[in-house]
Order: sequence, then structure tokens, then C-alpha cells
Amino acid sequence: MLVTRVVGDCPKCKSPASFGNVSVSQATLTRGCLNCDFSQQFWLPQLSKRIIYLDQSFFSHAFRAQLTEFAECAKILSQLAQDQLIVCPISCVHETETYQWRSTQREALWNFTKKTSRGHSFLPTYKVKSTQIHRAFKRFRENASEEFPLISSDALEGDVNQWDDYFWTDVPARALNIELTRKLKEESTEELVELFPEWRQNPMSFEEHWNVELRTMAQEYLRLYVSKIQQLANGNFDAALFSPIDSNIVEMLARDFDEGISLSERFNTIGSFFESKYYAEVPCEHISSGLMTVLRDSVKRGQFQNARKAKDQMKGIFFDHEAISAYAPYCDAFFVDGGMLEMVRHSKLDLEKRFPTRFFAKSNWSELLTYLELIRSEKSEELSRAIQLVYPNSPKRAKA
Ligand SMILES: [Zn+2]
Repeated sequence: MLVTRVVGDCPKCKSPASFGNVSVSQATLTRGCLNCDFSQQFWLPQLSKRIIYLDQSFFSHAFRAQLTEFAECAKILSQLAQDQLIVCPISCVHETETYQWRSTQREALWNFTKKTSRGHSFLPTYKVKSTQIHRAFKRFRENASEEFPLISSDALEGDVNQWDDYFWTDVPARALNIELTRKLKEESTEELVELFPEWRQNPMSFEEHWNVELRTMAQEYLRLYVSKIQQLANGNFDAALFSPIDSNIVEMLARDFDEGISLSERFNTIGSFFESKYYAEVPCEHISSGLMTVLRDSVKRGQFQNARKAKDQMKGIFFDHEAISAYAPYCDAFFVDGGMLEMVRHSKLDLEKRFPTRFFAKSNWSELLTYLELIRSEKSEELSRAIQLVYPNSPKRAKA
């Protein structure tokens, strides 16, 4: 038996320092002996952890510890995570952004981020998006209510309300093409900023823009799919493997029909779905198009006049949009940078009203600390006792 935390002598065979914690699962702690078959089970209280997303700016500030408040906040978060009150899962966006960092400290930053997450992670953003679109499409065809149901397994790997195990599986870094990602990011930022002069002239209203953004995204899924099919028809079989991942969205929906249904009927239904409120209500599509509309609105109101400065300000914007669109609805709290906070709180988007998520940034730092203090104050006596049993070597115990 593998005893990971020795708590004392075995009550049965009396062998010294051989009895301790073996495993922890959702509701049970198992203790056992290194020398005999004696074991004990303890029931553990049900957990209800808050899910907190920390963006890359938070992690790099906390890691570099140049801004003391970030380092101190990271300590508070780490204690709350150890107390099973919160989780700060990592995501593919963290990974991509970390590997964009040119510093020799890159690996160390990635390890710091993983350590903070204690083995919890979000599903890849693409997976969240395709699951949401697929579910909305089924609801559209069943004529169910247009309101989209938030189900945490759509966005999170495993059950976050399990007691943290003594070991967690380390996620090996993906084989990212760092230079290519950097190049694409720079190009996209440039292209975005080049659109600003035209945006300033455009007379469309906020609502009209939002609608155009949504429909453009849907058209892009159709376009990517058609382009892939055409390439395959022309004998370019690489297209099956190397087409953009979004080219699979329409294919996934087209497979959702009974065999007898003709292709044209399938595509008519898919087209009507993309025009419907069901599609507009898909959280990641709603947020992604909404954030872009808010950006347009800011540009129209005179922000980002200096193109060179604007390129710098837009540097992380695609990563921010990607993470917020996919994960924010599933989080209790979401940390972003200051400019982003204003955008998510824009009166016509107002993500805090739409989703059960609170947003924090450096500009409302005291609210963040109050929020974390409130979570800490909710720690019950029963939970404290269970934590002492499960993690007896925790610093709290050492101090006592
Ligand atoms: Zn024993």
C-alpha cells in the first residue's frame, strides 16, 4: 500500500510511523498501513469550489513578483485552492500565450501556472465552441427553448468538486509552432488595426454591427467547409488534415441527420440555424461577436487613434477574446486586464448581467480582495477538520 502522508503508528500492528493517507476520492479518505492490511475510511464533506480564471497577465505579474500585490494575491489564491474552496484551471490559451514569451524563464512560468492549477484544466477552446454549437443546433431542431443551458462539463476537464488528489497528471506541453503563432498573431493585429479608419466612418448601429459580426462568423464556418470539400474533390487530400479546425463545424452539423435526408435539405436547415436566435444565443458566439462589436464601438467613439500605439494595445486581444468567449460563462470569477474589464462591462454587452460571472482587473483590485476574503470566510468547521485529515502536512498543520 502506498502511504503518501504518514500520520503515525499503525493502530493494529503498532509499527511506528507506518500509518497514513493512501488515497482521496470524491467522498472518502482511505488510510492504511505500510506493514499490515489495516485500513480506515473517512467520509468527506461535499465540495463546492468557485472556479476562477486568471489570465496570462495575472500569471506573469505574479510569477515575476515585480508587482507585490499580484504575488500576495497568488498566495491567497494558493491557500484557497489548498483549502478546496477554489480552482484556477489552466487552458490552452495560457499555454499558447506562455510560449509566446521570449524569456528563458518561459518553462518556469509554465510550471508556475500549472502548479497554481493543481491539475485542473479547461477543455480546449475549440472543443467548448463546437460542443456549444452542436447543442444549440440540436435544440433548434427539437424546437426547445432558445435559452442556452450552461453545463460545466462542456468547458471543464473532469469534476472540479472532487477532493484534490495527492498526485495529478502533468500535462506535457503541446508541440506548438511558436514562431508561426507569433507571426499569425502579429499579422492579425495589423489587419485589425488597418480596419479602424473604415470602422470610424461606418454609420451602422451597435445592434446592426453585432448582427453582422455574428452572421460573418457563421458564413466563415460555411466558407471553410466548402473550401475543404473543394480541395478534397480536387485531389488535395492534405485538406482533410490541415484545414483550419473551424472547417469541421459545418461537417459536424451535417452529420447530425438521418441517412435519408438529402444534402441540400441538411444545408438548408444548417443555414436557418445560423440565422436563428438559437445560434445567436450560443455563449461563445454571443461573447466573441459582442466583444468585437464593443471594440468597433470604442474605435468609433474615438479611441485607438494612433495606429502604432493601437497595434501595441491590441497585442493580446485575440487571446483575451478566445478565453473570455469560451470560459467566462463557466467561471465564478474571471481576471482580465484593465481595458478588457471596461469592454466586458460595456452597457450593451454586460457579461456580468448575462452570465453568473464576476470580472476583476487591477482597476478593481480591492473588490477582488473582498471577494476572496468572502470565499475564505465561508470555510466551515467541518471542511477545516476534513482538510486536516486529508492534507495533514499542510502548512497550517505545521504551524499548529
Ligand atoms: Zn499495520
